[in-house]
Amino acid sequence: MGEPTGFMKHERELPTRRPVEVRLHDWREVYEPFPEDRLRTQASRCMDCGIPFCHTGCPLGNLIPEWNDLTYRGDWRDAIERLHATNNFPEFTGRLCPAPCEAACVLGINEPAVTIKQVEVSIVERAWDEGWITPLVPEVHTGKSVAVVGSGPSGLAAAQQLTRAGHDVTVYERADRIGGLLRYGIPEFKMEKRVLDRRIEQMQAEGTRFVVNANVGEHVTVDDLCRDHDAIVLAGGATAWRDLRIPGRELTGVYQAMEFLPWANRVQEGDLDDHPFSAAGKQVVIIGGGDTGADCLGTSHRHGAASVHQFEILPRPPEERPDANPWPTWPMIFRTSSAHEEGGERVFSVNTECFLGDDENNLVGLRAHEVEQRIVDGRMTFEKIEGSDFELPCELVLLAMGFVGPQRGGLLEHLGVELNERGNVARDEAWATNVDGVFVCGDMGRGQSLIVWAIAEGRSCAASVDRWLTGETDLPAPLTPAATPMAAR
Ligand SMILES: Cc1cc2nc3c(=O)[nH]c(=O)nc-3n(C[C@H](O)[C@H](O)[C@H](O)COP(=O)(O)OP(=O)(O)OC[C@H]3O[C@@H](n4cnc5c(N)ncnc54)[C@H](O)[C@@H]3O)c2cc1C
Ligand code: SF4
Repeated sequence: MGEPTGFMKHERELPTRRPVEVRLHDWREVYEPFPEDRLRTQASRCMDCGIPFCHTGCPLGNLIPEWNDLTYRGDWRDAIERLHATNNFPEFTGRLCPAPCEAACVLGINEPAVTIKQVEVSIVERAWDEGWITPLVPEVHTGKSVAVVGSGPSGLAAAQQLTRAGHDVTVYERADRIGGLLRYGIPEFKMEKRVLDRRIEQMQAEGTRFVVNANVGEHVTVDDLCRDHDAIVLAGGATAWRDLRIPGRELTGVYQAMEFLPWANRVQEGDLDDHPFSAAGKQVVIIGGGDTGADCLGTSHRHGAASVHQFEILPRPPEERPDANPWPTWPMIFRTSSAHEEGGERVFSVNTECFLGDDENNLVGLRAHEVEQRIVDGRMTFEKIEGSDFELPCELVLLAMGFVGPQRGGLLEHLGVELNERGNVARDEAWATNVDGVFVCGDMGRGQSLIVWAIAEGRSCAASVDRWLTGETDLPAPLTPAATPMAAR
């Protein structure tokens, strides 16, 4: 440990966010660069705590104290080696992970936690800048062929691991570009897509093949897939969205978040000049107080919305951990993301009753009321507070209420894979479905989750596929499907 008393001398510090009035006029990432000397000071706050709970907080089992120490010493080359030993894509998690590791940091018991995520992204960006991240072309070829269906973080992680193990890997993606929700979902201001593109270039140079506009079950038949490959990895995500079936749902102006956000990504890709139902000049209501809602909020502000309300049916979370939610569990507390800092009004304990339209079926407002959360027979219910009804004018409503699992029919039906009681693809302890040679990882088996889980599952699933194909594996497997470390979601 470089500086054993670093945590006693230095305060936690994060990079500053660019001024709101500047960043709302572009789509670039929000954070300013963090100077090296301050970053190394932050890394020095990692104390020699003995049992690093951050390891168990991180689903990837990232070797956090090791690379904190290497960063403190300025040994960036070894730091990226140790980081890549457990994480294929630290540039994604270093930007987008909610950092359950920091919630589990031992220093966090009574002091602000180590800035683990910032150290992570700084190590990997330094490595890209120095040219240290190059293709790792496999030295042996097994002659086995693997199809990966879906190119989100789980599919990419599985594909990179299996390619490096010497298999012939083809990733099939139904969209016109690779990346899953990293490409069409997560806004540019959270992660610029050049970050994704350079990693895909590395993977292509390693030998992974990518086929876009290939909806398996439609453009590519399941029979062809089974004939052409020795094993199949399903990594199609949990893209079936939860809807709000209330009167007025059919009005023009009510959209799903995942109808709205991908168009914003496409504008940034240069596919079209303007968003087809931009929030510009509109009064916007986002229904759903989570991260997808926050992405809609930041996007609406960049469009130039007249006003934005974000509705959440749950009560406002507490500022501090309640006693029932102790360290090192994920704290269910009030959080302010960069998008929240940019404006808008967050409204808690509110339920939407109906949408209101004009004679031409255009959305003009909504009717809602306040609710009280109750537990009845062990189940959470929301009771209307009488007399709390109100109407709010709006021309755009975005539904950001989560996802109910993978899309049914098509691929899953043709393959004949079984679903579990939650509607996700069922898998055993080796990530295998009920169909011989077909495996599953990421949100498709887990339900809508996080990028860090998707990468961890992709890596672990790859190890199982490798063993199934060759009888043994040297690939690491950080997880089993049943494992649920202390991390969020
Ligand atoms: C708007 C939004 C913002 C988010 N922000 C964050 C965040 O900041 N941090 C975080 O950790 N998590 C975030 N998440 C969650 C995170 O993005 C997901 O958990 C993660 O992307 C799941 O990865 P995956 O590889 O399992 O699936 P996905 O990323 O969903 O990728 C699945 C891919 O499979 C493709 N596919 C599906 N079926 C087929 C088929 N039949 N043939 C070919 N291709 C197919 C889909 O087109 C898609 O590209 C966010 C989610 C959303 C919706
Ligand atoms: S991937 Fe997430 S949980 Fe793991 S070390 Fe990075 S920020 Fe922490």
